[in-house]
Amino acid sequence: MAVDVATDLQTSIAADLLSDYRDRTERSRALHEAARRVLPGGDTRTIAFHPPYPLTILEGQGCRIVDADGRTYLDFLNNYTSLIHGHGHRAVTDAVTAQLPRGTAFPASHPAQARLGEIMTERVASVDLIRFCNSGTEAVMNAIRAARAFTGRDLIVKMEGGYHGTYDDVEVSVHPDPADPAAGTASSPIGVVGAAGVPANTMANVLVAPFNDIDAVDRLLAERGDEIAAVIVEPVMGAGGMIPAEEPFIEALRVRTIELGCLLIFDEVMSFRLQGGGMQEHYRIRPDLTTFAKIIGGGFPIGAFGGRAAIMEQFDPARRAALSQSGTFNGNVISMVAGIAAMEHYGVVEVGRINRLGDRLRNGFAAAFEQSGVEGTVTGYGSFVGVHLTDRPVRDYRDAATVDDNARRLLHLALLLEGIFCAPRLAWSTSTAMGEAEIDQAILAFRRALSRVRPVLAA
Ligand code: PMP
Repeated sequence: MAVDVATDLQTSIAADLLSDYRDRTERSRALHEAARRVLPGGDTRTIAFHPPYPLTILEGQGCRIVDADGRTYLDFLNNYTSLIHGHGHRAVTDAVTAQLPRGTAFPASHPAQARLGEIMTERVASVDLIRFCNSGTEAVMNAIRAARAFTGRDLIVKMEGGYHGTYDDVEVSVHPDPADPAAGTASSPIGVVGAAGVPANTMANVLVAPFNDIDAVDRLLAERGDEIAAVIVEPVMGAGGMIPAEEPFIEALRVRTIELGCLLIFDEVMSFRLQGGGMQEHYRIRPDLTTFAKIIGGGFPIGAFGGRAAIMEQFDPARRAALSQSGTFNGNVISMVAGIAAMEHYGVVEVGRINRLGDRLRNGFAAAFEQSGVEGTVTGYGSFVGVHLTDRPVRDYRDAATVDDNARRLLHLALLLEGIFCAPRLAWSTSTAMGEAEIDQAILAFRRALSRVRPVLAA
């Protein structure tokens, strides 16, 4: 009986939220319907979709974006953490508008490539040499290829729930159903291909380990260590729930990979923004290779991978049997000049400031959960914040994945109605375009959204 009441309540709150959302986003709905005629699902990026239809955003300025119905939102998603300065940052806009009439891409070198390379190698201690590409996916693909070529081995180890882009070998156990026996157990996960279309024999080259569980990783490495080319790990698991690696775990990974002669790849596509020299600086660990993307392009498409000279020199075309790394838009001048401007305005002072804004947001959310009586856990580090509708500690993918999806969706819709734009999975990031006033505004909106959906969450 109690279940029926809860279900009725959930249904009526959901219906209420949906009808408010529809009322306020008529233009977005119409544009979505029109887009569906040419784009499957009305969009060209799966992650941007959420039921009943996503907003259409027409412009952004600083930390605010405006939808097709003229409504303004505080942007806590920042194009999935990539817009470190929010929208339309003056230095980035100036750099790009100065470059546009002078050419956008050349099949030749341009000094801006070496300049952005210099910025990155100066900031990240483990990176002697770096190469650019156009996305984090490509960065990961090239780093894995470099590791395989360098070690002469094929196997890679990735963490369950770790997202590294859409390259087949890492589309494995990205969001497996923890209840599915095919995915193994928490301490002994079995890798499952993450998407139809990824060849089943991908699993011959990929092993999956649980995040933050060094005993389990040890067991895996003991069995197959001498076949492993690389272990790839996010120092802070991003898409998997904004979960920082625990120090003993990440330190042990470094020690074990050295012992076994396999490479350690840090995927800092997301986490690079959290410290001046990336999260490897925070953990005081030197991976062999690191992948980057997102913030280093100043809002334009980019990816990069770099690391120890001996590994990266494999890409030197003057060498015999060099590794090839091509791409029509690699190092295109617009992404380079935008990236230079963005990085020049993101030094340790700015990193520290927006990390403290993240702390303020986390504390505010934690207090809101406590006072509302709704069970919630807030994760993250610095400018990354994750909200989980569970009172259990969230240390790995499975902890984050056991949350009621429906409740999370309702809270996301309620937040949109309060003028707050975050990821449907309730991931947040701060930007230099924000101050404490915007953080406090978001906390207030979060409290209101929470109280609107509380009857469902507490049920
Ligand atoms: N690695 C990580 C850790 C990521 O978070 C992402 C994207 N969110 C990627 C790789 C892939 O980057 P891109 O979307 O630029 O291909």
